[in-house]
Amino acid sequence: EGRLMAGKRGVVMGVANRSSIAWAIAQACAAQGAEMAFTYQGEALGKRVRPLAESIGCDLVIPCDVSDDAQIDEAFSVVEKRWGKIDFAVHAIGWADKQYLRGRYIDTPRDAFLKAMDISCYSFTAMARRAAAMMNPGGSLLTLTYLGAERVMPHYNVMGVAKAALETSVRYMAVDLGCDDIRVNAISAGPIMTLAANGIGDFRYILRWNQINAPLGRNVTQKDVGSAGLFLLSDMGSGVTGEVMHVDCGYNIIGMKNPEAPDL
Ligand code: NAD
Repeated sequence: EGRLMAGKRGVVMGVANRSSIAWAIAQACAAQGAEMAFTYQGEALGKRVRPLAESIGCDLVIPCDVSDDAQIDEAFSVVEKRWGKIDFAVHAIGWADKQYLRGRYIDTPRDAFLKAMDISCYSFTAMARRAAAMMNPGGSLLTLTYLGAERVMPHYNVMGVAKAALETSVRYMAVDLGCDDIRVNAISAGPIMTLAANGIGDFRYILRWNQINAPLGRNVTQKDVGSAGLFLLSDMGSGVTGEVMHVDCGYNIIGMKNPEAPDL
């Protein structure tokens, strides 16, 4: 079997709809023979996720709100009962109150800060611990981050702070799990129009700015991120851990607006 993910099983958390980055990664893995379980937040999304999962031959679709430890425990115990072991897990989950994804970061109140940190950062640690406990050697964990963790991006605010913590957690967990031959990585994706992105102020302007200034002269697609995810989740990425890999058409290397670019 020449397929990269043949015989591999994984858990994918964070599919909301067809536009979700998690779905693009799942499709790339399915095309290479992976078998997957999907978790979703709330029954409204469950209705969307179930047919998507079925379209790639997956029937394990489990509710899991990651703000609740009991739900994470339950989701992984369902997967363990079915498969015993897994080979990979994808965390494509982020959330902050929309109200604070505009204006000044400094105005973020404590409860909004903690909630953003809980859902966008701690949930990866919480799921990684459960996933790693049932992972075969050669296993791979993956999360999604954004350049707003490294640089100040307009309106990203508390999400940027949470993503910085998430990226650091990737490095700590890479050390924790390296001795078990489990890898932990993040993809720092360029802006893509998804449900989550919709909550960020002036998102269309951000898309246009990136397109004009990225070395590749375009925005990334879900497919670009799906392929990179496949690489990190498969044995092709066997030497890569603790890495935050930019999949952003090169935007992160740019120091200044392209003077040739048209005005926005
Ligand atoms: P999306 O809206 O499709 O996915 C976000 C997911 O998070 C949804 O499935 C939602 O149900 C889930 N979620 C939120 N709170 C949850 C909770 N309490 N419990 C369980 N699930 C919860 O959007 P997306 O853009 O595909 O986002 C996936 C990841 O990619 C996020 O971490 C996001 O920050 C990151 N990312 C997105 C972009 C972008 O421009 N779209 C860029 C870089 C990184």
